[in-house]
Amino acid sequence: MRFSGLKVIKEALTGHKGWGPQWRNPEPKPHYDIIIIGGGGHGLATAYYLAKEFGQKNIAVIEKGWIGGGNVGRNTTIIRSNYLLDGNEPFYEFSLKLWEGLEQDFNYNAMVSQRGILNLIHSDAQRDAFTRRGNAMILNGADAVLLNAEEVRAEVPFLNFDDARFPIKGGLAQRRGGTVRHDAVAWGYARGADQRGVDIIQNCEVTGFRIESGVCKGIETSRGFIGANKVASAVAGSSSRLMSKADMRLPMESHVLQAFVTEGLKPVIPGVITFGAGHFYVSQSDKGGLVFGGDIDGYNSYAQRGNLPTVEDVCESGMAIMPMIGRSRLLRSWGGIMDMSMDGSPIIDKTHIDGLYFNGGWCYGGFKATPASGWCYAHLLATDTPHETAKAYRFDRFEHGYMIDEKGMGAQPNLH
Ligand SMILES: Cc1cc2nc3c(=O)[nH]c(=O)nc-3n(C[C@H](O)[C@H](O)[C@H](O)COP(=O)(O)OP(=O)(O)OC[C@H]3O[C@@H](n4cnc5c(N)ncnc54)[C@H](O)[C@@H]3O)c2cc1C
Repeated sequence: MRFSGLKVIKEALTGHKGWGPQWRNPEPKPHYDIIIIGGGGHGLATAYYLAKEFGQKNIAVIEKGWIGGGNVGRNTTIIRSNYLLDGNEPFYEFSLKLWEGLEQDFNYNAMVSQRGILNLIHSDAQRDAFTRRGNAMILNGADAVLLNAEEVRAEVPFLNFDDARFPIKGGLAQRRGGTVRHDAVAWGYARGADQRGVDIIQNCEVTGFRIESGVCKGIETSRGFIGANKVASAVAGSSSRLMSKADMRLPMESHVLQAFVTEGLKPVIPGVITFGAGHFYVSQSDKGGLVFGGDIDGYNSYAQRGNLPTVEDVCESGMAIMPMIGRSRLLRSWGGIMDMSMDGSPIIDKTHIDGLYFNGGWCYGGFKATPASGWCYAHLLATDTPHETAKAYRFDRFEHGYMIDEKGMGAQPNLH
């Protein structure tokens, strides 16, 4: 079923009885060419591009719960490509370009909204750092604008300019950044992959790998063994738990990140704003809720819920930059499990086990990476060579010391 304006009008006039399921609910086959573990954004995008761009036909996505139930449906929906380092910026810019054409590509309304992102500057040193970052972005074909304090005030006059603990001295804006309706991304990719013959198997947990003489032959699941020529992990926050079943110890830790949404308000925030003196970011959803978040909780966990000290910390940061947020009522908060890598950057690589591939380490920034991650992982799976923009995302960078450490924090996953 394709969507069109005419179809929407017809359904509106006939009681919405003509919409069918968006994807099938197939039984697993005994064997696939490629199995992707994890029906999050990255797993589904990988399946979609494998089928659409790389001509692969016999693919399954195996999801232990329901698609969209993981981080792809839990994030704060921000997309951007405002990175500094060579290993990252071309990849994230590739992703932003894919976002720009995504809805036309998979014929699904994912509410891609390039409403812009503004990183606030609070000190001269931070202005220097953001100037450098903006230049790196422009050199990589992205857009960046450096604003002074008055230009920021003209755009977002409701921030705390006059009585601020951390005065605003300017901002780095990326106008092409913005937000995307997160679960619609999972649904759009799922529907597009299913249309191209990909089996999306929900409620099927991968419990182990069948590895014989160093070769991965398939997966053990809660619904029995499924054979495959290639097995690709894309389980984000559950990466270390899953890969331990192949006796792999990953250079990453799992941490909780929380997000918050207020009651619906009249339009007030034009784009995404990030506080430069603490960790706080906020945007406004199309329904009017202020969507915001901050730091990870800071301890290792696989629980999809956070704790009150971080709630307090995030709200304090919000009050410091935007005091009016204290008048809004919080509707919901939730948590997701983040796959925090040692240098804060991801991995898209083969493993030392033949036929077993890995995608993870997205930290709290993997939603914006979804299209490029899917494309590059599909490229690796189909051709056994890394995509040009993902060449740096190798396991052995930790062995050789070629870190991609945007924050310069060192091997401290909770600080990236
Ligand atoms: C609160 C919060 C805010 C965030 N905000 C942003 C943001 O604004 N911008 C941004 O770019 N990123 C953000 N992120 C990060 C982003 O959401 C993640 O990096 C990204 O979604 C991870 O990739 P995914 O979508 O494939 O993960 P997921 O959706 O988590 O997919 C992994 C899937 O694997 C499944 N799985 C796990 N184990 C197994 C198993 N054994 N067998 C079968 N299936 C299994 C899980 O059920 C899950 O569905 C945020 C994350 C959180 C939690």
